Amino acid sequence: MGEREDVLAELRERARYYASLTSIGLPRAGAAGAAAVAAPSPAASPANPQAAEGLKAIREDIGDCQRCKLAGGRKNIVFGQGNPNARLMFVGEAPGADEDEQGLAFVGRAGQLLTDIIEKGLRMPRSQVFIANILKCRPPGNRNPEPDEIMSCQPFLEQQIDTIQPKIIVGLGKFAGQWLLKTAEPISRIRGRLGEFRGIKVMPTYHPAFLLRNPAAKKDVWEDIKVVKALLAEESGD
Ligand code: URA
Repeated sequence: MGEREDVLAELRERARYYASLTSIGLPRAGAAGAAAVAAPSPAASPANPQAAEGLKAIREDIGDCQRCKLAGGRKNIVFGQGNPNARLMFVGEAPGADEDEQGLAFVGRAGQLLTDIIEKGLRMPRSQVFIANILKCRPPGNRNPEPDEIMSCQPFLEQQIDTIQPKIIVGLGKFAGQWLLKTAEPISRIRGRLGEFRGIKVMPTYHPAFLLRNPAAKKDVWEDIKVVKALLAEESGD
């Protein structure tokens, strides 16, 4: 395939994916979206309708959240989106400007790179994984999450993980890696070291935004992603 066809195929896939989401970023239960969600895939566990219901309940609980100081500055709550039965979940830090605007996780430049990691690296449709962040609201000027904000928001991510029950979680960047592994070690030290969150395997790796600034680090992420790919294949008996 030429580069133009590649780009067109990717745009078509992305359009299909966005069209399959509801206004809160969850895959539709109806026929069109369900086909993408329910199709057997190494990326998804057998469809369990309770997971979609569980995520809906978590989103309802979040409501028009005013639990922390980020509420005043946000445009949209970014709940996260993807397959409620995903075997693979990605956890990032917090929404940026594009995510705040659209109410969807990882849709800016870093998100495009994450899509490449999933679709070109792992060779699975992005719609088959679940993508969420530690914070559901954008910190002003994309500053780092603050401890009180993480404390307020983390129960929702914990509930999302408990509901989805992925086989593997990829922690993107320092905040996600440290939060998932309950460590203060720098991301440069923990990346590539498999750990656990509530019995679920965790692979911390560099954040796609870091890769945009430091393309040389892509080779490290590729090493981490190869381990994730092998673990998923092993776990599904491929
Ligand atoms: N960076 C993140 O950590 N999360 C997003 O959703 C977008 C950028």
